[in-house]
Amino acid sequence: MSIISKDIQKAIALLTNEELVAIPTETVYGLAGNIFSEKAIKRIFETKKRPFFNPLIVHISSVDVLETIVSEIPEKAKILANTFWPGSMTLVLKKHKDIPDIITAGKDTVAVRVPNHPVTIALLKQLPFPLAAPSANPFNNISPTKPEHVERYFKNDIKMVLNGGSCINGIESTIIGFVNNEPIIYRLGALALEEIEALIGKVEVKNKMEENPDAPGMLDKHYSPLTTTILTTDVASEIKKHPTKKIGILAFNSSFKNAEITTEIILSKNNDLKEAASKLYAALHELDHLSLDIIIAEKMPEIGLGNSMNDRLQRATFRP
Ligand code: AMP
Ligand code: MG
Repeated sequence: MSIISKDIQKAIALLTNEELVAIPTETVYGLAGNIFSEKAIKRIFETKKRPFFNPLIVHISSVDVLETIVSEIPEKAKILANTFWPGSMTLVLKKHKDIPDIITAGKDTVAVRVPNHPVTIALLKQLPFPLAAPSANPFNNISPTKPEHVERYFKNDIKMVLNGGSCINGIESTIIGFVNNEPIIYRLGALALEEIEALIGKVEVKNKMEENPDAPGMLDKHYSPLTTTILTTDVASEIKKHPTKKIGILAFNSSFKNAEITTEIILSKNNDLKEAASKLYAALHELDHLSLDIIIAEKMPEIGLGNSMNDRLQRATFRP
């Protein structure tokens, strides 16, 4: 029987009973548990095989709850929260004393956001506790943007995926931390850097592990398909290098199809980066299940969400 269901009351019962439920958000599906249940939080790490040094994002129902999660809110964080929440932006702030160490990997900061999905907001409003929810995929694998992706990963491990349809943004949140009250981007994501800078001015980006050991999740290899995947600006030349292979193409806006290509997915024929981002992971999931020899992915334009997508594609194709 499918574990995918729209029953919010069932989700409430499971979460209240310290169990996990996969929840829909506008970015990707999350694997959620009560932040105050050690049992539930340990299960999140075990189920994902996520290392304990990688802290979790706390999901809250509205900006009004923020002061129960964090102990300090810099002025620019207030402006960002009031502008972009509910939405695809995570703030990393000094933690409230009540937030368990296992959530923050022992750090004195906590990551928090108000997701923009009606089903999960309704769920959070009815729960007396916030939810910790990392992406609902095994560590290092492609993030899920449809309930079926989560079911495929975890049907033997969890009892329920709360069905909220396909994720509209389809790529993880943009993570912003603060040093001396000034914002720093730890992870590019579904909220474009340009939109943030239009509001609060120039922001530093430090999204590499070596630049910023404070964002322990920013590993070089991440979001990876099992099929060997190559990222290139010149798809046509790359195709010629693999004459005997079964090739799948992940293209931005135009076709490279020829006789050698088994499958091709074009992310946005309309040249729309938002549309492309929303389809990126679903396309990688699809290509990864076609028994291809290689996937050739086209590098996205280096603007707005194109930069966020390139970040994920670089990590998906990283080979040490
Ligand atoms: P995921 O929930 O799978 O999208 O991953 C959460 C991301 O948030 C990881 O990259 C973490 O490193 C990052 N994160 C969570 N908490 C913190 C924190 N306190 N400081 C810095 N980064 C954090
Ligand atoms: Mg993740």
